[in-house]
Amino acid sequence: MTAVQTEVQSYVLFRVAVVRTERISPKMLRVTFGGPSLSGCVWAGHDHRVKLFLPLPGQTDPVVPEGPDWFAEYRAMPAATKPPMRTFTIRELRPDSHELDVDFVLHGDLGPASTWAGRARPGDRVAILGPNARCPTVHGYEYRPDADTDWTLLAGDETALPAITGILAALPAERTALVFVEVESAAEIRPLPCAGNARVTWLSRDGGPAVGGGLLREAIGRAEFPTGRPYAWLAGESSAVTGLRRHLVRDRGIDRKDVYFSGYWLLGSAIE
Ligand SMILES: Cc1cc2nc3c(=O)[nH]c(=O)nc-3n(C[C@H](O)[C@H](O)[C@H](O)COP(=O)(O)OP(=O)(O)OC[C@H]3O[C@@H](n4cnc5c(N)ncnc54)[C@H](O)[C@@H]3O)c2cc1C
Repeated sequence: MTAVQTEVQSYVLFRVAVVRTERISPKMLRVTFGGPSLSGCVWAGHDHRVKLFLPLPGQTDPVVPEGPDWFAEYRAMPAATKPPMRTFTIRELRPDSHELDVDFVLHGDLGPASTWAGRARPGDRVAILGPNARCPTVHGYEYRPDADTDWTLLAGDETALPAITGILAALPAERTALVFVEVESAAEIRPLPCAGNARVTWLSRDGGPAVGGGLLREAIGRAEFPTGRPYAWLAGESSAVTGLRRHLVRDRGIDRKDVYFSGYWLLGSAIE
C-alpha cells in the first residue's frame, strides 16, 4: 500500500458575485457576496480576514493564480492582467445560504477597492481568498488574548469596525472590554451588540480626515484602566496604531506580547 499525504491549504479561492449592497451608514457599505463554493468557507468570527481580488477594467472576472504558490505567481503577473488585491474582514459568513458579508469604508475614489465598492452592483464578480473549512486548523484571525489576561482593550478607526464588531459579538459574558472607535462623524455610530461588559467610546472627527489617530491617542491617554492584566487589540491607520502601541507599552507598562497591533491602511500608500 502506498500512503499519499496531501496538504490541505488553509486559504482557498472562492469565486463569488455581488448579491446585494446595503448602505449601513454614510461611509460604510455592506456588500453581500454569494456563490456555491462559499459552503466550503469557514469563519471564526473576531477579526477574520480575507483577500479580495478585483477585476481590471474590461474584465468580468479577475485573473487569479490558485494553489500553494499563488502568491509568487501573483507577484510575477504582468500589470496588464494583475488584479488589485486588498485585505478585508469577514463581517459575517452564512455558509448554508452561500453568503459572505464585507463592510467597506467608502473613502472616495482613491483606491481600487473603495472605488469598486462604491459602484458595486448585483452580479459583479470578484475572487476572495478565504479560510478553508476543510483545513483542520482555522487560520487568519489575530484576536487571541492569553487566558491569563483579565480584560480587553480594543481601539481602531472605521476600517477596524467590522473586526471590533465581530470581537465584541463573541466576547465572553464575564469579560470586560474598553473600546475606542474613531469615525468620521456621529452618523457612523451604531450599536455594537456584546454579551460581555463593554464600555464603548465613539470619537468623531466631525468630518475631518482620518490621520494620525490623535483622537484615539488622546482618549486612551486619559482613560482610567480597570485593574489586572489587559490584552490590547489595535487596528487602523498605520502610524496611529504604532503610536498607540508605543503609549500602551512605554507609558502604561503593558507587556508588548499582550498588545496586538496592525496597520490596516497607510496614509498616502496602497497596502496589498
Ligand atoms: C487585516 C485587515 C482587515 C481589514 N478590514 C477592512 C474592512 O473590513 N473594511 C474596510 O473598509 N477596510 C478594511 N481594511 C483596510 C483596507 O484594506 C484598506 O483601507 C485598503 O487600503 C483599501 O483599499 P483601497 O483600494 O480602497 O485603497 P488603496 O489603493 O489601498 O489606497 C489608496 C489611497 O487611499 C488611502 N486610504 C486607504 N484606506 C483609507 C481609509 N479607510 N480612509 C482614508 N484613506 C484611505 C491610502 O492611504 C491611499 O492614499 C483591512 C485591512 C487589513 C490589513
